[in-house]
Amino acid sequence: MAATLLLERCNPYGAETGGPRRIMGGLHGPGSARTPDMNLPDNVAQGEWLCPQQAQVRAYLECRCGHRGQPMPLCSWHDEIIEHGDLVGGTYRRVRDVVRVRGHYEEIQRRQAGACVRCLYPGRYAADYKSIEAWQGELAWLRDTGAWYTARAASVRQKIEDLVAGFDEGNATGQIHRCPMRLIAVS
Ligand SMILES: [Zn+2]
Ligand SMILES: [Zn+2]
Ligand SMILES: [Zn+2]
Repeated sequence: MAATLLLERCNPYGAETGGPRRIMGGLHGPGSARTPDMNLPDNVAQGEWLCPQQAQVRAYLECRCGHRGQPMPLCSWHDEIIEHGDLVGGTYRRVRDVVRVRGHYEEIQRRQAGACVRCLYPGRYAADYKSIEAWQGELAWLRDTGAWYTARAASVRQKIEDLVAGFDEGNATGQIHRCPMRLIAVS
């Protein structure tokens, strides 16, 4: 691939961390940019981190079902100067080596990019997930106020059970599934 520099900074996690938030419409509240499957460092997940490299490739993530993320500018193979101590003729010298290193394009391709959020929460399941969280919040409040054995708490527990049963059904039919995403370069 020709090393044509795009006039953009490499932004490997912007699209990934912003993706779920856009798709789910703030489903998870303030932490909606979290990507628990990806094991990103905290500052990366919070979007405070940017790669210092110039972007060379624009690429998007696509799942097996054809859901596409936003194209993101990524760095590719580039030179990096590594300094290290070396024993030269009996004395230590600081030596600078120029090495070819992978860019984020290669890194993301290599480590797989997690599962597609739209395939994990298709159709009504995004709203159902939100409902479960809301009912669980109410149930916790009922428990804390000593109302666990009331008819109200029983009906809330039943609502949660019904919604969870819906998820079990979706998982069983394959409508809900973990869909691996591939990184595809925009030509
Ligand atoms: Zn899928
Ligand atoms: Zn980069
Ligand atoms: Zn998908």
